[in-house]
Order: sequence, then structure tokens, then C-alpha cells
Amino acid sequence: MSGHKMLFSGLKLWTAGRSRWISRLHDDCSTKVCIVGSGPAGFYTAQHLIKARQDVEVDIYERLPVPFGLVRFGVAPDHPEVKNVINTFTQTARQSRCHFYGNVSVGTDVSVEELRHAYHAVVLSYGAEGNRGMGVPGEDLPGVHAAKDFVGWYNGLPSCRELRPDLSCETAVILGQGNVALDVARVLLAPLDILKKTDITQPALEALAESQVRRVLIVGRRGPMQVACTIKELREMVNLPNTRPELMAADFEGVAEALKDLPRPRKRLTELMSKTALEIPGEKEQQRRSGASHTWGFRFFRSPVEILADPERSRTAGIRLAVNRLEGSGEGARAVLTGEVEDVTCGLVISSIGYKSLPIHPSVPFDSRKAVVPNSMGRVQQAAGLYCSGWLKTGPTGVIATTMNSSFDTARSLVEDMESGTLDVSAAKPGSQSVSALLEKRGVKPVTFSDWEKIDGVETRRGEVVGKPREKLLTVEEMLQVARS
Ligand code: FAD
Ligand code: NAP
Repeated sequence: MSGHKMLFSGLKLWTAGRSRWISRLHDDCSTKVCIVGSGPAGFYTAQHLIKARQDVEVDIYERLPVPFGLVRFGVAPDHPEVKNVINTFTQTARQSRCHFYGNVSVGTDVSVEELRHAYHAVVLSYGAEGNRGMGVPGEDLPGVHAAKDFVGWYNGLPSCRELRPDLSCETAVILGQGNVALDVARVLLAPLDILKKTDITQPALEALAESQVRRVLIVGRRGPMQVACTIKELREMVNLPNTRPELMAADFEGVAEALKDLPRPRKRLTELMSKTALEIPGEKEQQRRSGASHTWGFRFFRSPVEILADPERSRTAGIRLAVNRLEGSGEGARAVLTGEVEDVTCGLVISSIGYKSLPIHPSVPFDSRKAVVPNSMGRVQQAAGLYCSGWLKTGPTGVIATTMNSSFDTARSLVEDMESGTLDVSAAKPGSQSVSALLEKRGVKPVTFSDWEKIDGVETRRGEVVGKPREKLLTVEEMLQVARS
């Protein structure tokens, strides 16, 4: 080796050693926090922690090789503007004090206990991956799906790839009247020209192109003044091309008189619904509606009793609904059975009555009744150094902005605990160093954020070819292959 080459390689070695040393020094002094789950809760918690304290390092562990949770796998494909939050999450992930470890399932690949040993604090933000069951006979029949799975199917969640819903029937019934129910109704009825410009998966697009579903009934156990959807989503339904609403005037008895006492958002929502149900539309709207080949409607005061099977019991043929009346008024009104029932013929039933968080390990407190980790402002009860944020903390309601605020609250609690000494950060913790060693021993190879950016690149390039924002990779294997290319 020539003299100057020797000098150069010696210098490189020294520089590499020095930066490793500096980084180790920094590592040793820093407070190490890890976050389980990379949905909005995980990223907003990380964002706040990194901003609030220069001495905090955050590692995010995510089960899938791809980040962003329900922003990728929940938000409807025809709502691309909602997904812009990904830009903020990406900025956080690119910070030098934030590291993403995808393809690591906490509870399987590494335990919460092991994370608690490796880090000063662990924030659980793994969302709500279960769903509330209807608890009625026939729920397991082919043709009955949880909205969580149906949404996962059209959004490319690997575990829902095989769902292949049978869309050969004319009528679909959706149970629940929240925004997820409306997302599902829209996707079932939206003209293909709209959907094909979105990031909906190709198999879903192909199935919807063949779909025979012409009528979607969105069923709620209570009345028009208790629906859980919001006005923007209702307006989208009302204006959905090639569809007309099917609402029953009788359901709106007494609504006009109650309007004046409703809080403003509820009032505007109810006004739009009443107008759609009761007013004779103008000529142009009448023409639009009479030319529509698809219909959607709300069925109020109905609870599921049983899913009815065809004579061979091989598929769904209908649903038996109990007729309810309301006891009380306003948001708190209760549905009470009248004893009457009604059968509706349908070949597809989608239960959209809410998601549900699941316990991760018996050592982590879990309130099974509320399906949340019991906490006070994000501090897990009786578990020092353990925090929670997002739907796991609050239950499965709230938009991304709600999740953001409650995740900031959790991060604030953690910072307060650091500053008050409640959270002991005096001893150095190994953080990802020890977890990486464990994962390596177990044959788990994490996906880094730059690996994800490779996946992102491939998906967006594939999308460009077909005029979509992205064409999602649909299997974990394919994602890992691209990540490692
Ligand atoms: P999630 O987003 O579910 O993130 C949890 C993450 O944890 C996931 O990435 C998951 O893979 C990961 N994880 C799970 N288990 C493990 C484990 N064991 N180890 C490691 N990682 C794990 N809000 C809006 O504002 N606008 C919308 O249009 C909108 N649309 C929605 C559509 C649907 C169908 C749904 C269900 C919700 C929608 N929301 C919308 C609400 C929004 O998605 C939630 O507020 C938000 O995603 C909750 O964030 P989270 O981080 O708690 O959960
Ligand atoms: P949700 O808003 O809580 O709605 C759940 C629906 O299911 C309600 O109509 C509820 O009726 C009904 N329900 C619950 N339990 C039932 C039971 N046992 N029997 C019959 N009906 C039952 O939940 P979601 O639709 O899953 O949405 C979750 C959150 O994500 C919401 O905050 C939503 O706004 C948000 N989200 C937002 C968007 C968006 O912004 N575009 C899109 C999707 C989701 P009751 O009121 O009678 O309980």
C-alpha cells in the first residue's frame, strides 16, 4: 500500500472509530424509548418526544415491513388527502434520533419484558387489530365479513389477501352507521373510474369490476339522530355518482322538532339526512337519481338477530333484524327490542360495529371489558416505564387528529416523568443494541426506514404505469424481497 493510501485508510479507520465512539457516548447518555406500532399514535408519540427532549432516542418496532398502520391499511383509497400525514411521519422517521424497525412483531419476535429491560420506557401503540363480533348465529357463514377484513382486503393488508368476498349478490347489508360503514358502502358502490385512480389493490379493483352489488343497506340499532358517521362522509354518499338514496320518511318523525336543540355538528348532519330523505329534489337531481343504477340507504332501529343461510347452508341468503324503539333521547338514547323482527334478503353482510384492541401479554395490564390498556394520561397503571397511546389507549374511536392529540398527551406524560424523576433514567440502557442481538439470534431481520423507502419507490413506480398513486405490494414476502434488493 502506498504511503498516502495508508494514511488515508488509517484516517478512515480513525474517523469511523471516533464517530462510533461519539455515537456510543451519545447512546450511553441518552434516554432510550421504544414504541410498539408505527401507526399515527406511534409516529405522533415519537415526534413529540424527539421535539421535547434532545436527549431522547426513539426506536419504533412495527410488525409489518411497511409503516403507517391504518393510514395505509384503513383510510379509504378515495381519500388520498388524508394520507398526507405520511409526509410528517416520514420527516420524523428520518431524524437521526428516530429508528424504524419493521418486520418485528412484539410479543412474538421480542417480548414486552425484553423491551422493558432494554429501554428506559416502552410506549405501546399497537392499535386495535381485532373486531367486535355481532354475537349472532350464522356469523361464520361465507358471505359475512368483519369490516376490518373487508377494508384490509381492498387496502392490501397482507393478512386479508385471501378474503376474496363474493360480490355476486344484488344486496349487501352493512351493520353499523359509523364512518367505516360509509367507507365500505362507498367502495362497494363507487364507479370504477373513480376507484381505478386510487391506491386500491388490483385484485379488489378486478373483483369490484365484476360486482353485482347494486343496493347497500347501512343498518343501525338506533335512529337518524344517533348515527356515528360525520357530515363529510354522508355528503359523499349523497353525491356518489350513479347512486340514489333510499331513506324512509317514517324514520324521521319528530326529527324536525328536535333539530333546534342539537349541538351544531349533529344538527348539520341531521339536517342533511332529513333533507335527503324528505325533500323533493330539484329537476337536475331528480334526473340524476332516476338515471342511477345503484342505491344505498340507512335502515334505522334495527339490530342483527341471525344471519340466514341458503338451504344448503353454504352461503348467506339474508339477515334477520330485530326492530327496536328508542328509550331516552339524544346521543345517550338506548335501543330497546320491540319483539318484532324483519328479514332482509342479501348475499353479503359486513359487520362494521367497531374495531377492538387485543391484549399483548398477560404481564401487560389489559381491561378486557373496555378492550384498552388501563392508563392515566398514557401511563399504564401499575407498570413503571410502560406507556400507551392511540386506539390502544382510548379505544377504537377518533380520527387521526384525535389520535395525534392523545399521543402528544402520552409523550408529555413521559417527559414529565423523566423530569420529575418518576421515570428512572439514571442508568444507561442498551436499547436497540441488545434487541438487535436478540432478533439476530432468532433469525428476525428488521426492515429499516430506508428499506421501506425502497418498497415505497417500487410501489409508486408500479402505480405510475397504471395511473394510480401507488400499486401496493400485497405479501410480506414480496415486501421483504424488495427491501433486501
Ligand atoms: P393503527 O393505525 O392501527 O397502528 C397500529 C400499528 O401497530 C400498525 O401499524 C400495526 O401493524 C402495528 N402493530 C400491531 N401489533 C403489533 C405488534 N405486536 N408489534 C409491532 N407492531 C404492531 N381517520 C381520519 O382522520 N380520516 C380517515 O379517513 C380515517 N379513515 C379510517 C378508516 C378506517 C377503516 C379506520 C379503521 C380508521 C380510520 N381513521 C381515519 C381513524 C385512524 O385510522 C385512527 O385514528 C388511527 O389510525 C389510530 O392510530 P393507532 O396508531 O392507534 O393505530
Ligand atoms: P364508530 O364510529 O364507533 O361506529 C360504530 C357503529 O357501530 C355505530 O353506528 C354503533 O352504533 C354501531 N354499533 C356498535 N356496537 C354495536 C352493536 N353491538 N350492535 C349494533 N350496532 C353496534 O366506529 P367505526 O365506524 O369503526 O369508526 C372508528 C373511528 O374511525 C371513528 O371515530 C371514525 O370517525 C373514524 N373514521 C373516520 C373516517 C373519516 O374521517 N373519513 C373514516 C373511517 C373511520 P351505536 O352508536 O348505537 O353504538
